[in-house]
Amino acid sequence: MQGSANDRIRRQNLSAVLGHVHSHGPATRFELAAATGLSRATVGMLAAELDKLGLIRESAGHKAVGPGRPVSHITASDDVAAMAVSIEANRIEACLLGLGQRTGPAAHRELDSVPTPEEASGIIASLLAELRAQAPDGFRLVGIGIGVPGQVGKERGIVGHAANLGWRDAPLGTLVAEATGLPTWVGNDATLGITAATTFGGGLGGDDVVYVYGGSSGIGGGVVTGGHLLNGATGYATELGHIPVAPLGHRCACGARGCLETEVQAVRLLRRAGLESHDARALELALADTRNTALHEEALRQMEWVALALRTLVNIFNPSQVLLGGFIGAMFASLSEEEIQTLTAESFTVSPTELRIQSAPMGSDLILAGAGELVFRDLLAAPDLF
Ligand SMILES: [Zn+2]
Repeated sequence: MQGSANDRIRRQNLSAVLGHVHSHGPATRFELAAATGLSRATVGMLAAELDKLGLIRESAGHKAVGPGRPVSHITASDDVAAMAVSIEANRIEACLLGLGQRTGPAAHRELDSVPTPEEASGIIASLLAELRAQAPDGFRLVGIGIGVPGQVGKERGIVGHAANLGWRDAPLGTLVAEATGLPTWVGNDATLGITAATTFGGGLGGDDVVYVYGGSSGIGGGVVTGGHLLNGATGYATELGHIPVAPLGHRCACGARGCLETEVQAVRLLRRAGLESHDARALELALADTRNTALHEEALRQMEWVALALRTLVNIFNPSQVLLGGFIGAMFASLSEEEIQTLTAESFTVSPTELRIQSAPMGSDLILAGAGELVFRDLLAAPDLF
């Protein structure tokens, strides 16, 4: 559907307005006009059309311009929702996410054994039923977005290789779409995490970011350089867990020795924290209590490997920000200023003002937000075709 030049421009403008309230939250017509470069009258017309499509709500705000007159705020509709899913070797997590970024009901399953793609699809279908039962009346589910700890190629929905799940060329997207009857998108979990971090900002993100995520299934990451996410020739770029850090280290599932993810593992932290399963929040709390010296020493030891990998990444990509997610972010947050100083002084030649290292939000929150983005992407690009 090509349409006329006018249609295309109108679509771009609808997309700009909806995209802005989706990424930045509620805004007034005045703010939207300033952000998009459109006139306030045009923004008003576009808002009316988006309202008719059920994609936004316009509500009376509390802010007032001068005395009296309340100013209405335009908010992306939370009635339009995506199901966001994160698959790990021992856990599948899901929630409903509104277009206005509100998180709806959530549900998860702890797994006794690593699921096959078919089993994962069945679990996702049952989680969907659970979430639907809790969803408010009148909401519209647009589709399902899934983050997996593995390589997801450019071909939609195929997991090329997920070493820690033992999956190869798994048609996960098709399986889930068949099990649920909903359009389904699949992405690499860490790539989704960095997409969410750079989309929703909040002090995170930027145009040059290295993101390293540690989950129960291993380590992943993403690199944004000059505002562009690195994909690689086949979509498998930035497998950061397989950066070599210890030539004589442990054997990795990829066949090599001493990859970052063989030396840096949540399981060794969990043991010292006395935790039986990979409960991200419990681990974060345990790490924050530095009285557990065995755990703190293990975190410090693992962070030395992380710093080594970061040295490689910083030297290649010259990022302005390094975001550490999952248990790696929790380890980083547990270090004292002095310990961070020691670690980074050996690793980086750039000054702290040129490079900010920080923890990204914990757990799979960012991954779920990124999975929701997979679903919303087409809708945001062409709201009038929704
Ligand atoms: Zn490896």
